Amino acid sequence: AQRLAHQRQLIDKILEPFIMTKAKLKEVEKRMRNEIEIGLQKRTQPKAIVRMLPTFVRATPNGKERGEFLALDLGGTNFRVLYTHVGIRNEGGVQMKSKTFALPTEIIQGTGQQLFDHIVNCITEFQEENNLQGKRLPLGFTFSFPCKQNSLDQGILISWTKGFSASGCVGEDVVRLLREAAVRRKNSDFYVIALVNDTVGTMMSCGYDDPACEVGLIVGTGTNACYMEEMKNVELLDGDDGQMCINMEWGAFGDNGCLNDITTTFDEDVDNHSINPGKQRYEKMISGMYLGEIVRKVLIKLTQQKVLFGGKISDKLNTTGLFPTKFLSSIESDTLGLLQVRAILAELGLKSTCDDTVLVKEVCTTVSRRAAQLCASGIAAVVQKIRENRGLEHLKITVGVDGTLYRLHPHFAGVLKKTVQMLAPECEVTLRLSEDGSGKGAALITAVACRVA
Ligand code: ADP
Repeated sequence: AQRLAHQRQLIDKILEPFIMTKAKLKEVEKRMRNEIEIGLQKRTQPKAIVRMLPTFVRATPNGKERGEFLALDLGGTNFRVLYTHVGIRNEGGVQMKSKTFALPTEIIQGTGQQLFDHIVNCITEFQEENNLQGKRLPLGFTFSFPCKQNSLDQGILISWTKGFSASGCVGEDVVRLLREAAVRRKNSDFYVIALVNDTVGTMMSCGYDDPACEVGLIVGTGTNACYMEEMKNVELLDGDDGQMCINMEWGAFGDNGCLNDITTTFDEDVDNHSINPGKQRYEKMISGMYLGEIVRKVLIKLTQQKVLFGGKISDKLNTTGLFPTKFLSSIESDTLGLLQVRAILAELGLKSTCDDTVLVKEVCTTVSRRAAQLCASGIAAVVQKIRENRGLEHLKITVGVDGTLYRLHPHFAGVLKKTVQMLAPECEVTLRLSEDGSGKGAALITAVACRVA
């Protein structure tokens, strides 16, 4: 019994830094709100960590958008080309065809020219398969990396994230890179109308069905959010009328050290071994690319302390990336028995006892819960800002959400919702799964742009 008590102490000591109290979450919300203001104000913007990038999207859909469009979705695990037909809402609304292409590591970490040539090759293949040659369709390019935009159809890549590192792209206009590749590959069957961040696509896609949707959120490989801000608060741009969607690039929250007091040694370890150390610190505590890694590091530590797996670490557990975030979803699933958890661990070469499986589940729950709670602090900061912008005591708002982690994790969405409610009781926030933001959303942005052009 004494040994057990001692073990429990060790476990608690390791997991304690992951526990978020309401006070801590309120503090994170306050700091996010502070970074939002820094990013919006002209004087402080050059030093902003949360970049608050204008997207030149000035309105959510009104349902009157029409036409045929192509869309590209680049920014995560896969690359997709889509064809979208936007028709009358009660005659089928938005219809789509799409094809997913693999993005080999040598492409995403090769040269920019290779990357964009590959993209155009995929477009060509898609057009041939769907008899779209010669149609010269307007195209919306969903490109989910931070870009500085000066117009809807231009964007200078600020930095790669999420494992991308193709050379010769940072500092360049990615729409120009795409257009140049189209010329090289002799494909003139499309023209680029809009560069779209996936958060904006997510908000727009949801906004087509729900006019209260004025926030977009992604929790997938990475995490990011956007929302409709008042033009008068966007000091970087002239004009005080109306609104503009702001791509927050909130994954970089914390890169100035403002979250250091809540990060754990495991977060630091994951960050140090990533391809962008010191960058995207908030994202690294929340998104799919990292949660599995955090859990893996905690499991190693617990094993070293002889609390887990009889003190024996397997080669697989010792290997970066071999504990993917989808394991958290399986292990935390309420319907999965301990035997099945054991089978997952066995696959990793780990011999587990019943106590081991319970503890592994506790670690997963602790790490994913913190992720959802931290994400909620960000959303609370955003919806409170919108409420104050409008001088309202009470705000009813919808957040369009996308991303595999949000979709498939058994508890992430629930914890997120509950925590937002606790942190922002003045706001009635509906989290709504967005249906194909990158495809449908990009098409809608393109459609709106074509309509008003
Ligand atoms: P992206 O954000 O790049 O468009 P996704 O939304 O598909 O891509 O998210 C991919 C991320 O989702 C990966 O980092 C992966 O770890 C995570 N993921 C995949 N399957 C699951 C799952 N079942 N549960 C939780 N996370 C998952």
